[in-house]
Amino acid sequence: MPGYKYSVYNSAKRNTGNRRSGGGNKRRGEYINPERFIKAATPMEETLYESKHKFADFAVATIIHDNLTAKGYETPSAIQDQTIALGLEGNDVIGIADTGTGKTAAFAVPIINQIVTSQNSRALIVAPTRELAQQIEDECRSIGKGGGFTGALLIGGTGMGTQLRDLKNKPRLVIGTPGRIKDHMERGTLKLDLFNLVVLDEVDRMLDMGFVNDVSFILDSMAPIRQSFFFSATMDPRVQGLIRTFSKDPKTVSVKSGETGANIHQDVVRFSGTHEKMEKLHDLLISNEVAKVIVFDETQRNVEKLSNELITRGFKADAIHGGKSQGQRQRALDNFKGNRTNVLVATDVAARGIDVSDITHVINYSQPQSYQDYVHRIGRAGRAGNVGYAITFVSK
Ligand code: AMP
Repeated sequence: MPGYKYSVYNSAKRNTGNRRSGGGNKRRGEYINPERFIKAATPMEETLYESKHKFADFAVATIIHDNLTAKGYETPSAIQDQTIALGLEGNDVIGIADTGTGKTAAFAVPIINQIVTSQNSRALIVAPTRELAQQIEDECRSIGKGGGFTGALLIGGTGMGTQLRDLKNKPRLVIGTPGRIKDHMERGTLKLDLFNLVVLDEVDRMLDMGFVNDVSFILDSMAPIRQSFFFSATMDPRVQGLIRTFSKDPKTVSVKSGETGANIHQDVVRFSGTHEKMEKLHDLLISNEVAKVIVFDETQRNVEKLSNELITRGFKADAIHGGKSQGQRQRALDNFKGNRTNVLVATDVAARGIDVSDITHVINYSQPQSYQDYVHRIGRAGRAGNVGYAITFVSK
């Protein structure tokens, strides 16, 4: 085991009184040996990817070139460099990549080019969470601006009014979460039989969240001859199974560096009892190194309670969980992105798809249910090649 120790939480000094908060250390998921939460970062081993193309080289519509230039996209990231070329040739593509690698534009460029250049092309993009669907929509909107097509964003937690109006316009780009897409299909407000392009983003999360039947139902309703893009951070047998069922001779592009969380310092904080746990969290949060942090806790109730406790203690904290309305979740995310808060307390589900590039720390105030969840959590830090920190609370 590497000897690296992230020791700031042992040395911070402050006086906070004697408040209590936080839960115990009860867990229901798989047992994970705490040793697995300790690992030094090895960012030096990362090699810089040399792109074979410039965006200017891709044979896409002028309007897309213009929009990419306006966005400041000049050199493609690794996943973009390889996926865009394969996608433009009409291949089914499997992309193994995390959020933060530029995967959105990797599928958005070929898909939007197809929509812009062929009136008969229609695309569906399915994402596991509302936040991710919203981020994809923002990216697609800016890449496809002025392209002569309309879109619809179909996510839960928001009213049906706008969605029904957008669907009446016969959108050729539909982005959404599985539940709401299926809902519209069952109401008869969305017909997919002419949709010949599909993206499944974060397939592994989608399966983790129990969407396998919804996703299969959706794909079965699409045009039988279609081009598919599958993106996933991990490639386990379930993901492979789904892709095998729904793809045709796919080409795989992987930009994973191999080792999980290679650029993330991982360590544990040991505590006994809820009081010490809270105090150690406080120590951690007041240290200078902790600039922007996601704190994971287990239930909506605990997340709310912990966030309130941190606010009482003077931290710029907010909570994000499934019990909040879409508007509240978006506001919490905007405040966090805009540095009006710097501590976001979250449940696993609510944190999925959060793309905030300058998160320095992930704190697992309660342990994840599985090692795979752990890997997803810590991947929120250390984005864009930065070194990040992941600290997991472990009962003594
Ligand atoms: P993604 O992984 O798709 O969520 O993208 C991560 C962030 O990188 C987003 O804020 C994108 O706007 C940005 N981005 C993606 N591709 C490029 C690129 N080729 N050049 C500059 N910024 C990019």
